[in-house]
Amino acid sequence: MATSVESSVSAREKYEPVIGLEVHVQLLTATKIFCSCSTHFGDPPNMNVCPVCLGLPGALPVLNRKAVEFATLAAMALSCEIRETSIFARKNYFYPDLPKGYQISQYDKPLAEHGFIEIDVSGGRTGTPAAPQFKRIGITRVHLEEDAGKSLHEGFAGATDTTAIDLNRSGVPLIEIVSEPDIASPEEAYEYLTRLKEIILYTGVSDCNMEEGSLRCDANVSVRPRGEKKFGTKTEVKNVNSFRFIREALEYEIDRQIDVIESGGKITQETRLYNSVEGKTYGMRSKEQAHDYRYFPEPDLLPLVVDEKWRAEIRLTMPELPEGRRKRMMADYGITAQDAHVLTLTKSLAEQFESAAKVAKNPKRVANLVQSELMGRLKARGLEIEQSPISMKGLAEAADLVDSGAISGKMLKDLFDLCFERGKDFSEVYEEQGRPAQSRDTSAIEKILDQVIAANPKQVEQYRAGKKTVAAFFVGQVMKLSKGQANPQLVNELVAKKLA
Ligand code: ADP
Ligand code: ZN
Ligand code: MG
Repeated sequence: MATSVESSVSAREKYEPVIGLEVHVQLLTATKIFCSCSTHFGDPPNMNVCPVCLGLPGALPVLNRKAVEFATLAAMALSCEIRETSIFARKNYFYPDLPKGYQISQYDKPLAEHGFIEIDVSGGRTGTPAAPQFKRIGITRVHLEEDAGKSLHEGFAGATDTTAIDLNRSGVPLIEIVSEPDIASPEEAYEYLTRLKEIILYTGVSDCNMEEGSLRCDANVSVRPRGEKKFGTKTEVKNVNSFRFIREALEYEIDRQIDVIESGGKITQETRLYNSVEGKTYGMRSKEQAHDYRYFPEPDLLPLVVDEKWRAEIRLTMPELPEGRRKRMMADYGITAQDAHVLTLTKSLAEQFESAAKVAKNPKRVANLVQSELMGRLKARGLEIEQSPISMKGLAEAADLVDSGAISGKMLKDLFDLCFERGKDFSEVYEEQGRPAQSRDTSAIEKILDQVIAANPKQVEQYRAGKKTVAAFFVGQVMKLSKGQANPQLVNELVAKKLA
């Protein structure tokens, strides 16, 4: 066994993966794309349906203006060019959850093309602060389409031997975002999806909730010998329901493909499913007898014209996007790329930080405290930053108190610990503790310092012999003995005075 593992490790080095992602995002319109049925999630099955979304003969689709605006906004946020005239097309296939026998989508004239997302490939986002290193992942196209219904295999009477169909989702507006095969590793795929979701969330056109199916990803992957220009045969991993599982599924699939090729086999183009419990992918259907969807222009819909005037109106609704915001925050508050990254993990956090940073005396310190005091405590308790007992406002308050010398760093740490223990915000705990202040009581500090000096004659000698850095040792000792209550600046002054 050992030898085969070793050889496959070195074989892996000889190959490079090529990945392209197809992401479906549900648009947050109140009504469906071609009828006025509600898109509300979680309603009883088949409640939100009408002749149009049931695909009854003779029912005519009418395009939802809001869906077009949302799709266009999202495409613009992904730096796409918007096509003035795009065409809806019928994509024909049979499936029980597709009553019409076709899906209305877009084909050779999609709404938008030629976009990109910048991903950070420095690896520093989650580790030690590193300068971000951007790589562009091309976006081939963004098109509008309707969702199909849903086959239910559980959760209803008779589920053991029956499949039920819920058509509430039929006709819900989606955009499909297709990437170029520019993604070179599962890690990059993860980063691409993270940035994509972040951008879409900032535009507000979707909630990107993966559990509810508002964001779905199909991952295409192939491998080729390093240096080779031609792509290998790809497989497509479908219906993976978290970014982490997509990364895992890709890792597995890449190894599997390399093993097949190394043992003299050939990759068949096919759709595969990922079993997250086993961490393996399984072949589902071969694409050899490739789908022929017999696309043709949808005869019941006019070409979609999004002219310059409308595009300009939509562009006006564009909020600041995450990458732009990070750059501006770095400039406005003098914070690092790493700070900016953490502080924009969600839109609401960024907003909270900015409102706090604007009133804080020293925004940089607010950012530092998030990194040094907040993130670790959250992580230790498995909390997301939104669940932090300490608000950004509380953090700014704490930063100001440290800044003005009212409390020491050590006291801040203790107060933060109390906030987490009690699940209360900073100001509340600060009041509860009776607004503690660090000691500026010179005589008390002097007393401690005298003890420290008496106990450490060697260091005193060193200091007097010119090794001034030893001062830090005395300051440290005094801080320790005062349990962090002494004002460090004052201690510094006293040390210099006493040892002079
Ligand atoms: P299909 O016709 O099978 O749907 P497309 O050409 O439409 O294939 O591409 C679908 C997705 O697969 C895109 O994201 C694209 O970047 C990606 N892709 C295409 N060829 C490859 C390949 N050889 N390896 C990996 N990904 C690929
Ligand atoms: Zn309907
Ligand atoms: Mg395709």
